[in-house]
Amino acid sequence: MIAITMGSLIAPNLATAKSRHHRRPARNSHSLALSKQDGISVIGKKRQSASNGIVKRAGVQLTAKQAAFASKFGQYLKSVGETAVITSGTRSPQHQLSIIKARVNSIGAARKFPELRNATAQRPSTWLRAWDYLRARHVPVYAPSSAGGEALASNHTKGLAIDFISGSLDHLASLVRSFSHSHLAMLSPLRVASIAREPGCVHVNLMK
Ligand SMILES: [Zn+2]
Repeated sequence: MIAITMGSLIAPNLATAKSRHHRRPARNSHSLALSKQDGISVIGKKRQSASNGIVKRAGVQLTAKQAAFASKFGQYLKSVGETAVITSGTRSPQHQLSIIKARVNSIGAARKFPELRNATAQRPSTWLRAWDYLRARHVPVYAPSSAGGEALASNHTKGLAIDFISGSLDHLASLVRSFSHSHLAMLSPLRVASIAREPGCVHVNLMK
C-alpha cells in the first residue's frame, strides 16, 4: 500500500504583478494541491526499471489524485508485466507557455514572434499568434490558458492529464485503454476521459 500525502497548496505562477493588469480567464485562476510525497519513484531519463509498474521523471509534479491514478495504473502494469514512465503531470500555465516558446525556437521561428519574449499565460495576445502558427504546422501543443475558439487550456494545467512513455507508445495506449476497463481503475479517484497518442508520449485526459 502506498501512502498518498497531500502537499501544501502551491500557487502556480499566476499572480505576478504584471498579470494583474490583465483579465485572467476564470478557468485558469486555480491552485492545485500538489503531492510532495506521491509514492511514485523517480527514474533517471536513461535508466530502465522493471521493478515498479510505474515511475516518473525527475521534476514531474502530480496532484494527490493524479498520484493515486498513477499508482493504480502502475499496479495494473505490474500485474501484466509491463512498465511505463510518467513524463508530465501537472504544469503551471507558465510552464505550458514555455513549451510553446520551446517549440517555436526548435523550428527556428522565434524572430517571427517578438511578443513571445515577454509573454504571460494570462495575456493570450502575447502567445496566440505563435500558438496558431504551431497548430497550422501540426505541432501539437496545448494553450496555456483558454482564449476562446480552439485555444483551450491544457488539461495539464488543471491536474487532469498525465503523459506516459514506454518502449512502444501504441502498445502503451492500448494498455491505458485496457486499464480503464479494469477493476483497479474503479479504485482510482480519476477516470480515463480520453487517450491521445501524441508524437512523443501517450497523453491521457482524466476526469473526476
Ligand atoms: Zn500531455
